[in-house]
Amino acid sequence: MALIVHKYGGTSMGSTDRIRNVAKRVAKWVRAGHQMVVVPSAMSGETNRLLGLAKELSPTSMTPAVMREMDAIAATGEQVSVGLLAIALQAEGLEAVSYAGWQVPVATDSSFTKARIESIDDVRVRADLAAGKVVVITGFQGIDPEGHITTLGRGGSDTSAVAIAAAMKAAECLIYTDVDGVYTTDPRVVPEARRLSTITFEEMLEMASLGSKILQIRSVEFAGKYRVPLRVLSSFTPWDIDITEEAASGTLITFEQEDDNMEQAVVSGIAFNRDEAKVTLLGVPDKPGIAFQILGPVAEANIDIDVIIQNVSHDGKTDFSFTVHRNDYARTMELLQNTVGPATNASKVVGDPKICKVSIVGIGMRSHVGVASKMFRALSEEGINIQMISTSEIKTSVVIDEKYMELAVRALHKAFDLDQEATATA
Ligand code: ADP
Ligand code: ASP
Ligand code: MG
Repeated sequence: MALIVHKYGGTSMGSTDRIRNVAKRVAKWVRAGHQMVVVPSAMSGETNRLLGLAKELSPTSMTPAVMREMDAIAATGEQVSVGLLAIALQAEGLEAVSYAGWQVPVATDSSFTKARIESIDDVRVRADLAAGKVVVITGFQGIDPEGHITTLGRGGSDTSAVAIAAAMKAAECLIYTDVDGVYTTDPRVVPEARRLSTITFEEMLEMASLGSKILQIRSVEFAGKYRVPLRVLSSFTPWDIDITEEAASGTLITFEQEDDNMEQAVVSGIAFNRDEAKVTLLGVPDKPGIAFQILGPVAEANIDIDVIIQNVSHDGKTDFSFTVHRNDYARTMELLQNTVGPATNASKVVGDPKICKVSIVGIGMRSHVGVASKMFRALSEEGINIQMISTSEIKTSVVIDEKYMELAVRALHKAFDLDQEATATA
């Protein structure tokens, strides 16, 4: 008997029929002798609907007071899901109980709309499990030290599930979703994308941080920190498939070293992110401290900065560009135009919200040369202009015009033979 955490995403919880199916699947795991904690998301579309209603009444000003209410509103989606799933489990003849984040409690900090989990008290949950109950806990939400409801950022139910699995030292955390695993890239963009039977934790972390929405990045961070065995698999297989087959399906996130896997491809996957915007200060003085003078106030305004580029200077002047989340674009432009630009004597502030970032990821990049140049060649053959480049040990990212995103992802998928089985020299 093992303690297992299942997480079901919005599409998997999308209708009462699907919820019934989830309950049947969970019941199968209970009958196989496991203790089960289940973490569902809101029914598909529900979080968007709830946030849309809130935005209708407060279209511009995202004050902390508004954000507090946004979280209280968004969290109701998951509360409906847990109640419905508990009833469906009871209809399967199981004892089941549902909890909202605050009832567990799942303690978070107070960063509304992007709160971080700080601790999870598992006493109540353990007592229920010991009494033979299935415990259903809301994804995506928690409670801050002042008792306010918080949410964990979009896609946050993944993080709830992994954090609960970590806190309870579960034998495994299974993330059930609408695709049958982690693919070389989003199969909705590249139909030839291939499912990976395993992906290393480091690669998954990069893929998630570079925009691949299959897992929220914090869930991968938790899995790494606490070594939670993590698998992504489909909730759309028939619920009554053999449990051993189901438990071995999908994609396993592995913690093994590169050397253990001789078949490792150089590039394992491609991620893309349409949520960024680029801003540029033209003609700032090229002198010590200028980067800090520009980025200090941006960081103080709690705006996350991603790719940064500073050009060589001409006549003591340089251009300085960086990217931010598109939601922060207007705020960043305002800050640059009104404060930072004048303070640094910039000749002009320009911005472009219609960019995207496309990245290739693979731990094989550590030991191979020429990977970035192969990427740049593939893009140039499609006539795609690269605006910014950023690299780390296991990834290369480029910022390009948003309209070329799909073309770029497809071209790179082909250039790196990702539609083929991996070989040692790919
Ligand atoms: P859930 O509601 O189950 O959390 P999400 O929509 O958050 O599901 O994540 C699943 C989706 O992630 C898939 O439908 C797919 O379009 C997308 N996706 C993006 N990148 C990948 C990838 N590399 N592999 C598989 N799916 C991906
Ligand atoms: N319901 C939340 C969202 O739509 C959390 C999740 O689905 O993981 O972002
Ligand atoms: Mg998700």
